[in-house]
Amino acid sequence: MSHPFTHADWQRLAGELTFETRAWLGGDFVEAAGGERFASVNPATGEMLAEVAACDAPEAEAAVRHARAAVERGDWARAAPAERKRILLRLAELMEAHKNELALIDTLDMGKPITSSLGDLSGAINCIRYNAESIDKVYGEVAPTGEESLGLVLREPLGVVVAIVPWNFPLMMTAWKIGPALAAGNSVILKPSEKSPLSALRLARLAKEAGLPDSVFQVLPGFGHTVGKALALSMGVDCLAFTGSTAVGKQLMQYAGQSNLKRVYLECGGKSPNLVFADCRDLDAVARHAAEAIFHNQGEVCIAGSRLLVDNAIREAFVDKLLAAAETMQPGDPLDPASFMGAIVDRTQYERVLDYIRRGVAEGAVLRRGGEPLEGAGLFIPPTVFDGVTPAMAIGREEVFGPVLAVFGFDSEDQAVHLANDSEYGLAAGLWSQDIDRIMRVARRLQSGQVFVNNWAGGDMTVPFGGVKQSGNGRDKSHHSLAEYSELKTVWMTLAP
Ligand code: NAD
Repeated sequence: MSHPFTHADWQRLAGELTFETRAWLGGDFVEAAGGERFASVNPATGEMLAEVAACDAPEAEAAVRHARAAVERGDWARAAPAERKRILLRLAELMEAHKNELALIDTLDMGKPITSSLGDLSGAINCIRYNAESIDKVYGEVAPTGEESLGLVLREPLGVVVAIVPWNFPLMMTAWKIGPALAAGNSVILKPSEKSPLSALRLARLAKEAGLPDSVFQVLPGFGHTVGKALALSMGVDCLAFTGSTAVGKQLMQYAGQSNLKRVYLECGGKSPNLVFADCRDLDAVARHAAEAIFHNQGEVCIAGSRLLVDNAIREAFVDKLLAAAETMQPGDPLDPASFMGAIVDRTQYERVLDYIRRGVAEGAVLRRGGEPLEGAGLFIPPTVFDGVTPAMAIGREEVFGPVLAVFGFDSEDQAVHLANDSEYGLAAGLWSQDIDRIMRVARRLQSGQVFVNNWAGGDMTVPFGGVKQSGNGRDKSHHSLAEYSELKTVWMTLAP
């Protein structure tokens, strides 16, 4: 068995990497028509990795034309599902074979620790496999009619799907969209985040090698307000599958209304509550999980457990345990497998997080640890914990998207549920207790797409993932997401007696 990669191995591999920087459009790698490019910078070092083609409206228009032609051609859309399965399984195999390289690209591009990127890759590969394996097990329906009729309900691809994804889990968020959309027979145009475009372009080559027909999968790097907006407003796009902020999600719904009423599936932001009741058996373990729930991936996680709600009966002791756990989760070189946290994705996000920390102090929350960035060229912010937070404070209501935890106290189950639901978001919620009656009572009352009981972020491909309220309206993962990428068609036949 090969030995696990060391820090030095990853550094060596990073030095040997080359990047694809052109758009994958109509079966060719091309520069943007105007020749514009944008910089991809490693946030852990400040070094420029590459200059990437900045696509805009002309590329969006061309990609939609190619994707539409691929739908008409039918070599993917009308192929037997078993054939699509074969090619997607091949793609998963190629991703597996290039797992280290793909993980390394994401780590360099957006600053997350290499162990985290490897975990994302496992999730992404698993998602492609799950959808490939599922697609030839999806049946249509025969309606219950009399003998004089035959009613068929067929599932057909939507047509052209645009996937717009964020930077925090670049390839996993990509797989959650393209896995089901491609399996269902659609042509997919991927718009990766301008903060992490490189792994999607590497994936394009693997998709070609796996045998995906030309223009069934295209990748357009560039900015949201240029190429993203042009794709979202296009009359030739049938569906927008989006993961990102609530503010942009709202814009996409407007674009759909202004254009062709395309479907819009949104996976947006969160401010997820994590409820700790006094009856927990092992408070040390719960404190460690609660710290991981916010500090994993530098807090740049849609389901970060960013609001910790603790029973006041144990709060003081629990916060001490949490601080001790946070001590072990310091940021470090993302290429070091020992680093728990990496760098913040870019300077804009870094300044935004630091601004929230300043506002927390100004609004009277008690800063218990962290708050000051690390010195040096890299964008590192240590685990930061505020106690005594109230729902009126910005750090208690708004999505910080960084390693900043807001701790609230509660005196009763009712108050805990009220505090938890007092949010415009509803993506995830956690609940720690040994009392099964309380668990079921509270789990039912929490307004959230998913409730984690005695864990944080549990779940696999068999269960759907998504939000309620302003956290979105779509569902990734499971057979529910596969169903979202197809349309029902009724065929009603009259039969001769
Ligand atoms: P963002 O909304 O700024 O950008 C997301 C994507 O949208 C990017 O590709 C961006 O280029 C594009 N975009 C921006 N403006 C656009 C426009 N006008 N038209 C079309 N496209 C546009 O979000 P982000 O900063 O990349 O990611 C962080 C956000 O993503 C957080 O709010 C986080 O909670 C959310 N997120 C949600 C989930 C989930 O599953 N619910 C998962 C991960 C991240």
